[in-house]
Amino acid sequence: MTDYEVVIGLETHIQLNTITKIFCSCKADSWFDPPNTNICPVCCGLPGILPVLNRVAVEKGVLLAAAMHAELRPLSYFDRKNYFYPDLPKGYQISQYDQSLAFGGYMDVPMPQGYVRRVGITKLHLEEDAGKTKNMGAERYIDFNRCGVPLVEMVTAPDLRSAEEAAQYLTRLRQLLRWLGVSDADMERAQLRCDANVSIRPHGADYLNPKTEIKNVNSIDAVRVAVEKEVDRQVREMEAGHRIESWTLEWDEDRQVLRKMRSKETEADYRYFREPDLLPIHLTEEWRAEILARLPELPLERRQRFLDQYGLPEYDAEILTSERRLSDYFEQAVQAYGGDPKRVSNYLMNDVLRMMNESGISADQLRLTPAHLASILKLVDAGTINNSTGKSLLQKVQETGTPPAAIVEAEGLAKVSDDAAIRTVCEEVLKENPAEVQAYRGGKATLMGWFVGQVMKKMRGKADPALARKILEELLG
Ligand code: ZN
Ligand code: MN
Repeated sequence: MTDYEVVIGLETHIQLNTITKIFCSCKADSWFDPPNTNICPVCCGLPGILPVLNRVAVEKGVLLAAAMHAELRPLSYFDRKNYFYPDLPKGYQISQYDQSLAFGGYMDVPMPQGYVRRVGITKLHLEEDAGKTKNMGAERYIDFNRCGVPLVEMVTAPDLRSAEEAAQYLTRLRQLLRWLGVSDADMERAQLRCDANVSIRPHGADYLNPKTEIKNVNSIDAVRVAVEKEVDRQVREMEAGHRIESWTLEWDEDRQVLRKMRSKETEADYRYFREPDLLPIHLTEEWRAEILARLPELPLERRQRFLDQYGLPEYDAEILTSERRLSDYFEQAVQAYGGDPKRVSNYLMNDVLRMMNESGISADQLRLTPAHLASILKLVDAGTINNSTGKSLLQKVQETGTPPAAIVEAEGLAKVSDDAAIRTVCEEVLKENPAEVQAYRGGKATLMGWFVGQVMKKMRGKADPALARKILEELLG
């Protein structure tokens, strides 16, 4: 059997999270609204309408292009892409064709196996979304709410080499979109849509075989499964001596199968021509500089910096940079604390994230500020409270918003390091448990932990456990 190489390119449509649509002032996000409630003559394409470009949509597109290391065109144009479909009331989609907002670019995607795949970008442009058609029994309904929602279409070069690489690319793209704040990138809500172009060739070949296009793969898992299945099919076809035909396939999520849809239109079928009702986008030096000043450190760069600057393990750096707010939180806490960053990371990842998960709150709903977290760590370091009190403080600060030191003061949580006080309790515990004392003296040394536990319990967790152990050893010795 021939050794095949898999060649995948992904075409993504990214819904920008603007408040209004790209060419009119209708509300852009209609997910929770009844059909045909956010529409107007412009997005429904009534005669005589004139589109007006949404400045914020352009800025979000520019930000994304810059983050993908793409070249920005100072002058870019809109074009009409003509086709007939019921959910496209104008009979054309306003898109960008040969002179788009940006060109080139790439993303370096780290793979779990340790290597980095550079994925080139061949196309990046702005366009408007179409509506939705919905089949209900024998009837077909059309919802124009989504018409005119701003999209960035972004197409990769055929640089991905497995279904897993495609899934990793999408995961990193989703992370980047949220990080930049340009899209909510929720695939279930179709804010990030993906079509996959798949072909195979003998390993080492430098030509491309005909590809198939898989439509409607709208979760990262679906991309993994659908591409895997299509690769298997193509290998079987090639091994049987058949040619691969350029089909468009549709992924059926319910049945987990690929279905042949239609043969694909060619570019010429769309009769692209310049949109006469819109001026070109003139991205002046000043405007461009103003937008790029908002470009944050990117998630993968920050991940690397967390490894280098704070000496964090890969696992920690990955989780702490999964979300921009969380990673900002971490850095602010490290700064306020001034001690070992790994201590901050441990508290954040084990305890704060658990608390967030359990109570279903996000990083921006935390009342426990980075400064609060830092002061809890300092209280533990100074020996004022023990570790378990520190952890219970997280929840208390979150619930009340009160600074940790004030809670320690008000509730008398300070660790008791007073030798005499602990000694009295130790003596009590030994007196109350003669059988255990006898067993311990008879050689059952493991009971020491139990004795310490009894002392801690009597002192409501405030005793210094090391001191309690020392005193117990002395009394029992
Ligand atoms: Zn409208
Ligand atoms: Mn498109």
